[in-house]
Amino acid sequence: MPALPTPSQPPYDLIIIGGGASGLVAAISAARIGKQVLICEQSGSLGLKLLASGGERCNLSNTLSSEDFMQRFGPSGRFMGPALEQLGGDKLREFFAGLGLETVVLDGFRVWPIDRKSVSVLRVLTEEIERAGVHVQLECKVIAAQTTPDGFAVQHAGGLFQTRKLLLATGGLALPKSGASGEGYSFAEEFGLRCTPRYPAGVPLTTVEDWPASCTAHTIGKAHIQVDLPKHKRIAGTGDLIFTKTGLRGPLVLDLSRDISPLLDKYDTVPLVMNLCRGKNQEEWQTIFKAWRLKPNAALDERLTEHLPLEVNHAICKLAEVEPDLPMHSLAGAQRDELIRLLVRTPITVSGTTGYEGAFVTRGGVRLKDVRPETLEAKTQPGLYLSGEVLDLDGPCGGFNLQWAFASGYLAGLG
Ligand SMILES: Cc1cc2nc3c(=O)[nH]c(=O)nc-3n(C[C@H](O)[C@H](O)[C@H](O)COP(=O)(O)OP(=O)(O)OC[C@H]3O[C@@H](n4cnc5c(N)ncnc54)[C@H](O)[C@@H]3O)c2cc1C
Repeated sequence: MPALPTPSQPPYDLIIIGGGASGLVAAISAARIGKQVLICEQSGSLGLKLLASGGERCNLSNTLSSEDFMQRFGPSGRFMGPALEQLGGDKLREFFAGLGLETVVLDGFRVWPIDRKSVSVLRVLTEEIERAGVHVQLECKVIAAQTTPDGFAVQHAGGLFQTRKLLLATGGLALPKSGASGEGYSFAEEFGLRCTPRYPAGVPLTTVEDWPASCTAHTIGKAHIQVDLPKHKRIAGTGDLIFTKTGLRGPLVLDLSRDISPLLDKYDTVPLVMNLCRGKNQEEWQTIFKAWRLKPNAALDERLTEHLPLEVNHAICKLAEVEPDLPMHSLAGAQRDELIRLLVRTPITVSGTTGYEGAFVTRGGVRLKDVRPETLEAKTQPGLYLSGEVLDLDGPCGGFNLQWAFASGYLAGLG
């Protein structure tokens, strides 16, 4: 890379690229220990993704212990230990209370701001930044960063800043309209860090089959979904599923998409099997069908609606090639068996995702092996720190990703 022009201002102690959840908290923790901090944010305002979070209500954390919290991220979750020690769930709630924002838990699990407004979360963070004397440059897109003898030179369209330490809090690729542009990955790579492939995660799935379009009015509670590929059957879960015009969404689908999205790179389509009847198995259905024989004139779909919404049971009857209005007494044994097979394991094929526009997080990012978990400093580049979604960590729905963004920002700011 060619040398950058000479900067015009004295150096900052810390420049943070990215004024999202992680960058804002990092600025606060650094400024509180007396550091001169500058946030460079390319958008016209801070925290756009934070504002959109949780349907603008901001599910900012959850009540899990740090141990359980880390487990939900899979094997790489342990990387978060030191950050959670600094600002785990309880401490984060205290942190916000200290800023004048109380939080509540309504379902025993998810933590929300008391008024359920993400704008309140952003307001207290920006007020604190102002109080702490953090400098903020909006519409300041960083285009290059380079080491200097005293730290780093950070180039933006309007000139150059210099800083002793640099934090990449540039987020991921989800929700591009919030400023998610992925430059953080290139900056990290230029400093010798490696990145894992990136995929949209926490994202609705599209399906080859078009029958979900006729079932859009329905949420199926406690649905079970499993990937039907021999090597990937461990990708499975139970939760709420919603049909869409193009496929599937709902918390269960968003969580599974974190593992399914990378598979779509390898396999063009990913077969799933669903149990939409709260896990009912073959024996249970056989008992139910036997009991239905007592009312032999009732139509099949009339009986099935006791367990499944009409449109969904019509779709399954169609897969079984059985007329839904068939009277029970006309249902042949082979038809019944096929229907039961499909009720227990309803097949559907994922053809893709709705992309980063519809995603709430990015799977993949800067490799954790290249970063010290105790400080979040890059191993290859002293003085360079990384926090939040730019790192290769993504959690399920339920306040996991914001908790990580806040905790990692806090720790990196202390560095
Ligand atoms: C719709 C939606 C809903 C969500 N809901 C929840 C929820 O309820 N609970 C939860 O835990 N998580 C939720 N998430 C995920 C969570 O919001 C993110 O994981 C989290 O905000 C990431 O924080 P971050 O600071 O790492 O990145 P961001 O918040 O994305 O911040 C990165 C910032 O860096 C800036 N930037 C990037 N490159 C440059 C550059 N070159 N120069 C200058 N600035 C740059 C960007 O403009 C951006 O403002 C949701 C996400 C979405 C999209």
